[in-house]
Amino acid sequence: MAKVFALAGNPNSGKTTLFNSLTGATAKTGNWPGVTVEKKTGKYREDTIVDLPGIYSLSPYSPEEIVSRNFVLKENVDCVINIVDGTNLERNLYLTLQLLETDVPVVVALNMADILNKKGVEIDVDKLSMKLGVPVMAISALKKNGLDDLIALATKAANDGRAGKTVLRSKELADVAAMLDKHKYFNAAKLIENDELICSEYESLKESVNSIRAKDATSYAEDFANERYSYISNEIIKNVVVKAKDVSNRTEKVDKVLTHRIWGLPIFLLIMFSVFHLTFSEDFLFLSALGIIPEGAFDIPIIGDSAIASPGIILFNIMDWIVGLIGDGLANLFANAPEWCSSLIVDGVWGGVGAILSFVPNILVLFFFIAILEDCGYMSRIAYLMDKIFKGIGLSGKAFIPLLSCFGCAVPGIMATKTLKSDKERRMTIMLTPFFSCGAKLPIWTAFALLLFDGAFAELIVFGVYIFGIIVAIITAAILNKIIKGKQEPFIMEMPDYHMPQGKNIGILIWDKCKHYVVKAGTLIAASTVVLWFLTSFAWNFSMVEDVNDSIIGSISNFIAPIFWPLGWGGGEFKGVFVIGAFAGLIAKEEVPAIFESLGLLEAAVASVAPAAIFSYMAFNLLVVPCMAAVATARGELNNKKHFWLTILFWVATAYISAMLVYLIASLISVAWWVSIILVLGLIAAVVVCAVLSIRRDRMMYGVN
Ligand code: GDP
Ligand code: MG
Repeated sequence: MAKVFALAGNPNSGKTTLFNSLTGATAKTGNWPGVTVEKKTGKYREDTIVDLPGIYSLSPYSPEEIVSRNFVLKENVDCVINIVDGTNLERNLYLTLQLLETDVPVVVALNMADILNKKGVEIDVDKLSMKLGVPVMAISALKKNGLDDLIALATKAANDGRAGKTVLRSKELADVAAMLDKHKYFNAAKLIENDELICSEYESLKESVNSIRAKDATSYAEDFANERYSYISNEIIKNVVVKAKDVSNRTEKVDKVLTHRIWGLPIFLLIMFSVFHLTFSEDFLFLSALGIIPEGAFDIPIIGDSAIASPGIILFNIMDWIVGLIGDGLANLFANAPEWCSSLIVDGVWGGVGAILSFVPNILVLFFFIAILEDCGYMSRIAYLMDKIFKGIGLSGKAFIPLLSCFGCAVPGIMATKTLKSDKERRMTIMLTPFFSCGAKLPIWTAFALLLFDGAFAELIVFGVYIFGIIVAIITAAILNKIIKGKQEPFIMEMPDYHMPQGKNIGILIWDKCKHYVVKAGTLIAASTVVLWFLTSFAWNFSMVEDVNDSIIGSISNFIAPIFWPLGWGGGEFKGVFVIGAFAGLIAKEEVPAIFESLGLLEAAVASVAPAAIFSYMAFNLLVVPCMAAVATARGELNNKKHFWLTILFWVATAYISAMLVYLIASLISVAWWVSIILVLGLIAAVVVCAVLSIRRDRMMYGVN
């Protein structure tokens, strides 16, 4: 008799490949009724094969999971072919254990056998089958090995029928299961977990389930998940997988240190600090501060004065020197031109564009190191560590990936929030994006940090800005979590083995960043600099002015500057310039230092206020509404006018309040230590948060590859 077989498995386990190998040209695609999830059915001889959407579990968090689960439970499938990616056994078997809790016949297709062979990884199929209690067949969907045997097994399993079983040893589960007659264990677990769909089917049992529960429903859900995972790693993986090489073992050893429940985050901070030191320090390896290079030992242009600059700063000095040369050349060239013309070209355009170009080396060096950390597999660990912290504030580790890309640029970061399934999480993540300092803001930090305290604390200050942004993100997220309603999504992520970073990947990453940056400097920035030059060089009667305060934009800025008086930079001699800078930053953040440079007022403005005011100015520019491009992207992704305007308001309010607090606190304490205090606070917070949330290492997932 013709049968219906459903292919169920994790995304990327090879379902579609198997489906195509089985059905050949007979496949039909469409949508499941009522939802836009792709539906595919085809024929293998007489039997119907259904390719279900890829899912990680039968706990419905997404339309895919609901479709797949309903199909398995409701459609009288003759047998579920559970396709399992053999190179990712640990993660894939979670779904398997849940499928086994239903009464539907299951066979496991252990896919990617060819890769396992190549890697010399052996999986004991008979033992696996014994542990799971269902037939297991090693196949290669791609090479079409073992497919006929697989279907034969599925046919037999369908004819034999099957009763559900579970690895969960909860007494409450057994009690609820005893009241049910169909998919006992599956439904019982879901009733205890308070699963909406299943609960509405068993209204009449609500009272009895409530009386059986000894804890709240969510802790049951967590316990069940943990029990399944530990069964997989302790009972199955340990007995079934024979690894030929010890790559994963080595990785696990390294992870014991790098993802340590208490030291994981401090180590991350230390690594990031080293990166910033290499990029921004004027005193490389602290040779001068430690007295290894004595005062007045040498003064070499570009290299440093009684100190050796970090690679990032040496490159910056070289670029700065070249930009200066070109500026001088332009000044000579236009020496005889009308004043407005030389002012436009030399001060306006080159002043702005040149200022931005001189920061390219720092951006390059910073992203070079971040690319290495990303490519070798370290950043995925950080996402994992973050998951534990994020959970407490309504986000999952999944949100870390978009937020991480925001360190590069908020635009791809905001677009990457598409991968988040919960609306609440997506909204919150978009709202937090500016707090993760993007590449375009780097020139602001560098410009000011190199001037404050003669650049002595440059790398600490820049690093401090990043940490400060993250702290603000955590605090505001905790608040938003209370305000915005919605559900949270569980986080499952593969941990790749550590490996040597690939030159090509890193090259592509850096090239992408720099190209984007240089092109932007040559187009948007150059054009807006011209407009800003005009607005800062001419008065309302279109006569050229000497003092920017008399210019069109200067008079407006001076008028509104008092609003920023509480932030420390809305009162002094250059208040108008600070305001112009902050507003120009709404076009693109590079405009902030570009404005100061093109007016030739950077040093004077920084000297005119207390360092506390500059810290507050940096905080404001970090947290306030990001550039035009990011705002437009956020508008598109939020897709809701009210949410969009609330987000803008949130950015402005957070920036204003935080900058005011920064100014207040920094004015009260000895300013030089302000940054160090932020760092120490960050470190303590990291340790405390880690310890409190008690990171559970056993949930970390490894691939064999
Ligand atoms: P799905 O998301 O479950 O539908 O997975 P796909 O069928 O799209 O497969 C994901 C990737 O794994 C594709 O690149 C496939 O070519 C590859 N793949 C699937 N099965 C095998 C296999 O047996 N061996 C190898 N080497 N690759 C496979
Ligand atoms: Mg597919």
